[in-house]
Amino acid sequence: MTLDNDIERVLFSEGEILSGIDRVAREVTRTYQGRDFTVVSVLKGSCVFASDLIRRIPIPLELAFLAASSYGDGTTSGALEINFIPTGNEIEGRNLLLVDDILDTGRTLHKLKAELSKRGAAEVRTCVFLDKPSRREAPIKPDFRAFEVENLFVVGYGLDYAGRYRNLPYVGALKEVVYAAPKKTARG
Ligand code: 5GP
Ligand code: MG
Repeated sequence: MTLDNDIERVLFSEGEILSGIDRVAREVTRTYQGRDFTVVSVLKGSCVFASDLIRRIPIPLELAFLAASSYGDGTTSGALEINFIPTGNEIEGRNLLLVDDILDTGRTLHKLKAELSKRGAAEVRTCVFLDKPSRREAPIKPDFRAFEVENLFVVGYGLDYAGRYRNLPYVGALKEVVYAAPKKTARG
């Protein structure tokens, strides 16, 4: 059995993803040309996107990680917990680019932006792999995004269901049967 068996349809192929990231990388490069900045990858979901993105940005940058999880039933987001945050001197006075897998309700990035500003960041912008604007609850728009998606739960390219499917090289929708037994899981 391979993960492909659980996928109903592919939304973004590996090739489409990489050309979308090329475009976002050019936009980010234009924005930060001549300025110091730090890419803050929100774990676990953004690790695949962040690693492809930074390798397409040909100007100096620093890299930091932040780990946050929202606890829900597997396909909806619940309370946010920050498990790991960069040190004070990685935040204070810095221009931060928060990179996440998906902007859904927007609650996660809205809270993380506020937390980083509170800790003294000079500027906090956001860059997301996927944007699901139809689901937005918090007042936030991504500064950069690779793709917009419809209101559908997706997996792959860093995005998980019950901890799995992050290693799929494309983005897809799961077959209905996979959701048959929902589990309580922590998502990052
Ligand atoms: P928020 O609702 O706070 O914007 O998003 C919180 C987190 O929920 C995202 O970082 C992501 O981990 C998860 N999430 C939201 N929509 C999806 C989706 O369609 N697929 C997967 N795998 N995770 C999602
Ligand atoms: Mg996440």
